[in-house]
Amino acid sequence: MINRLASSSIWKFSNSPAFHRECQYVRFRSDSKQFERKLKHISSTEGREMMHEPRRQIPSIPMESVSVILAAYILTGVELDDISKDRAPQTPFEEYLCQSIMLRGPLSVAAFMREALMNPKYGYYLRKDKPVFGTHGDFITSPEISQLFGELIGVWFVAVWEKMSEKEKEEFIIVECGPGKGTLMNDLLRVSRRFPNFKKGIKSVHLVEVSHALRQEQAKRLGVSSDVKRGKEGEMKSGKTEDGTTIHWHNNFTSVPRSPMLLVAQEFFDCLSVHQFEYTATGWCERMVDVNTGEGQHHLRMVLSPTPTLSAMTLMRSQEHMGRYYQQEAKQKIVKDEQEDQEHPVHAASRQIDLTSAPVGDKQGEIGQCVEMCPDGITLSMDISLRVAKYGGAALIIDYGQDGMTPDTLRAIKDHKFVDLLESPGQTDLSALVDFASLKRAAGAIENVNTFGAIPQGQWLISMGIETRAQRLVDASTDEQESEAIASAYERLVSPEQMGQSYKVISFANRSLGDVPGF
Ligand code: SAH
Repeated sequence: MINRLASSSIWKFSNSPAFHRECQYVRFRSDSKQFERKLKHISSTEGREMMHEPRRQIPSIPMESVSVILAAYILTGVELDDISKDRAPQTPFEEYLCQSIMLRGPLSVAAFMREALMNPKYGYYLRKDKPVFGTHGDFITSPEISQLFGELIGVWFVAVWEKMSEKEKEEFIIVECGPGKGTLMNDLLRVSRRFPNFKKGIKSVHLVEVSHALRQEQAKRLGVSSDVKRGKEGEMKSGKTEDGTTIHWHNNFTSVPRSPMLLVAQEFFDCLSVHQFEYTATGWCERMVDVNTGEGQHHLRMVLSPTPTLSAMTLMRSQEHMGRYYQQEAKQKIVKDEQEDQEHPVHAASRQIDLTSAPVGDKQGEIGQCVEMCPDGITLSMDISLRVAKYGGAALIIDYGQDGMTPDTLRAIKDHKFVDLLESPGQTDLSALVDFASLKRAAGAIENVNTFGAIPQGQWLISMGIETRAQRLVDASTDEQESEAIASAYERLVSPEQMGQSYKVISFANRSLGDVPGF
């Protein structure tokens, strides 16, 4: 197959006009079978010599050598042994990834992660064949462990709502990013029914969910039964629950209407794609995913860019540059927001954003040091914060992560176990620890917003009253097994040895609200 091409050697030159000419030449002069054969040959011989061990740098090869090698193999067309015959056959998704790498060059870890999770045909979150959560899925999340979790988020929403202005209280929206099976939202809305004024003030509920299958599951869980509207591919777009609450689905946060809002994102930021950088003698280089033409079990492998990539140069600047980068980014967003909506109450010019305390980007690292960055998370954090600043309300973000920079934490999870990152892409969940400090820095850069946390999930749940609530459930239960299940779920959510410490909570709130509960 053509995906055996030693793409990383060629990648370095893929922007060269001469290279493109050469490729076109190859394509025009060969029928597709012949082309495939030649490329296979290249990948197996000289191509292989030019390859590098995983995590090693790609050396520079003069452009002429590549042209000569390509040309030579077009003329010879000798078949070679398949060096990877011990491997499992490529899945259609691996074949797609390899061909794409061959044409465009190795993928950054971030681009690989995006493909593996979000590819419309093969991505993990878009597959229909297997549940991704729960005991029968690859992992279990807090809302699936116990109803206590979603209920306490509901209590938090009501407590924050109490602090909102009368006008905001009467018309606000509820937003959830990545609602999974809809369990958290269902538990939250159940609690809200006990507070009639809160319930009455909910204008609509907005779910940011990319998976069509999960949208369907969410609709079922929430009891969406009337006014159902579907998109072109049959995916849920909106509908009404039995008690008349309108639910809307969105592919991303941008299309959520501008309104006072209460937002929750539980285990959402960890799925956003991360870049990985490694410090080398040539500076911060980027980890990339390439076709594996050498030994090894997988069809893909990790390589390191030979020199800093554009992302490395942008994101791994010195602290001073980093601060300016965010500042610029935030200003552009504000200006864009103002262009979209003339009523923006705050002038961009009045914003003084100081992010120069960003801990990353000391230009000097230690050789081999790895740093992960999630620009998608930082951008989303800013977007949420801008809405909170401008329209009112607050956001609660819960995830597993730490209050600072994360090194090399991206993992693949399958059947409740960690597996190799490159094992069966699209069949494993990919998740990276969330760097809460960077999210807070980005959100805090927006004027009119207070940030809280990060605090451990256990601490937050306890200060929200999980003990009392769990006790009440135990007291109300007549079944011993059920009582034990409640106690064990409580332990799992709160205990530092389980999820209580590794999962953290942060909040962004409009300054007018003052302190928010739980922190
Ligand atoms: N919050 C749920 C599910 C967490 S898994 C729980 O705790 O149980 C992540 C969820 O986010 C899934 O519903 C997944 O389909 C969705 N998702 C992941 N990345 C997304 C993206 N970039 N845009 C929209 N939805 C996404």
